[in-house]
Amino acid sequence: MALLRIIHKCNQGCVFCSYPGKNAKNKKHDSNLYCREIASSKDNLIQISGGEPFLLGGMHLLKLALCAAKNNKKIEIQTNASLIKNTPLNVLKKLIKAVNLSGGYFNINLSAADKAMDEKISGIQNIFLNKIKGIKLLLKFGADIRLTYVICRLNYRQAPEFVKFTLKRLPGIKWLQFSFVKAMGKALTKKIVPKYLTASKYIIKAASLCAKNKIKCEIDHIPLCMLGAYYYLNVDIGKVAGNKEGLYRKEKTYVKRCLKCKYVNICSGPRKDYLKIYGDI
Ligand code: SF4
Repeated sequence: MALLRIIHKCNQGCVFCSYPGKNAKNKKHDSNLYCREIASSKDNLIQISGGEPFLLGGMHLLKLALCAAKNNKKIEIQTNASLIKNTPLNVLKKLIKAVNLSGGYFNINLSAADKAMDEKISGIQNIFLNKIKGIKLLLKFGADIRLTYVICRLNYRQAPEFVKFTLKRLPGIKWLQFSFVKAMGKALTKKIVPKYLTASKYIIKAASLCAKNKIKCEIDHIPLCMLGAYYYLNVDIGKVAGNKEGLYRKEKTYVKRCLKCKYVNICSGPRKDYLKIYGDI
């Protein structure tokens, strides 16, 4: 997959933000330039990220989505969804159609099941309802959506609640990902990164709720040995088993106990940055 960071600004200040974008220079957004990058990419999946891409407005995203579709690339638009409701409806509808045409989806970082937690995580007041409105608009006009819940020390206990919240308030959502926080940027601290073992029972509970309610569930950045019967939901399995290229190889490594582990041929091990904080799993 190719990652295009089309803007370095964000309207949130998430506690786990690992992107050092504040120091990056915001060059003028040039859709043609990005379109050339999309067209020449060897990857089939193009991730449009930031910062917050919707700060550039829906028209820019529409151009990129159309370019991806034209070049037979699948597009993933990463967003916190809070600005979607400000996008003119005619543009939003076209954007959703173009993303669908590419076979792509919206990947929404929603890491809270209520307003209070959302404010703790995002550092911004009164933004939670805007996100829910944005997600509902996407659903209404037929978008494919993955909600990504970043597991950190503040919210790991709420992971099962998040599944219940999704079922109740966003019943059209059929795809969740639980992504263990990367110990990078602001999150290079035990204050943000919980121990795998501390968080694992809540992630397992969330996974079991997804299974019970037929929601597709994926889990990333926490090793298989921490996921009980749901080890098979770890997104690295296919990559490791198929010996695929990817960032996971650089970011993860094995520890001593991996040598005797039954999963070693399908697991990429713990993240190196996690080991920097905790030393072992
Ligand atoms: S290979 Fe290592 S990290 Fe992966 S499941 Fe086994 S012990 Fe855990």
